[in-house]
Amino acid sequence: MLSKRAAFTTSTVRFGGSSRVGRLFVISASSGTGKTTLAHVLLKEDLNLIQSVSYTTRSPRGNEVNEKDYHFVTMKEFLEIKRKKGFLEWADVFGRYYGTPKKEVAEHQKNGKDVLLLIDVQGAKKIKKIRPDAVFIFLAPPSKEELRKRLEKRGTESKKEINRRLRVATRELVELNDPALCDYRIVNRDINKAREVLRAIINAERNH
Ligand code: 5GP
Repeated sequence: MLSKRAAFTTSTVRFGGSSRVGRLFVISASSGTGKTTLAHVLLKEDLNLIQSVSYTTRSPRGNEVNEKDYHFVTMKEFLEIKRKKGFLEWADVFGRYYGTPKKEVAEHQKNGKDVLLLIDVQGAKKIKKIRPDAVFIFLAPPSKEELRKRLEKRGTESKKEINRRLRVATRELVELNDPALCDYRIVNRDINKAREVLRAIINAERNH
């Protein structure tokens, strides 16, 4: 389930007093792989782990809450933040813009919190270039068929959109298998097992 550690990260933990700087964890997965569900479980159990709330130009779905699930903004607002260099990274994902707020991530880390980014593969690649100290975890679906089933069950995308997401997922699977990009790879067959593995990775890296 867990691939060999492919790269070492630089420790950001400082010893003594309260000067610990939080670590940055990047979980990347194709749409429908289950990263949001997994992250919610983990965040409930681990009070030193905090999720960075991204900005997006897409509209809220179902019971999503502004400021909690995403900062839902207009394209004009998004571009203004981008112009002011407010994003650590940003990407166009399926025609909508998504961005990780630079200041919020820095503040959480400064306060000793470990920060979790749940972002797409393009975003992970950008973070890799500017934050090589981050820990990169790739969550993979058990198979393409299973991914299709999960997307269909979620029922939030049309058939055309599901097919588009599957095409992108196939390409991303190849990209994320690159050990230069990914430190750990977890196959999400069973949410409880995936959670245990993820928790073990986070604990190990915290003490690294
Ligand atoms: P959704 O619209 O389904 O919530 O997210 C679509 C994709 O965008 C998911 O793969 C999600 O992880 C990714 N995403 C969410 N926030 C960000 C972000 O700030 N940056 C990047 N690059 N991707 C993001």
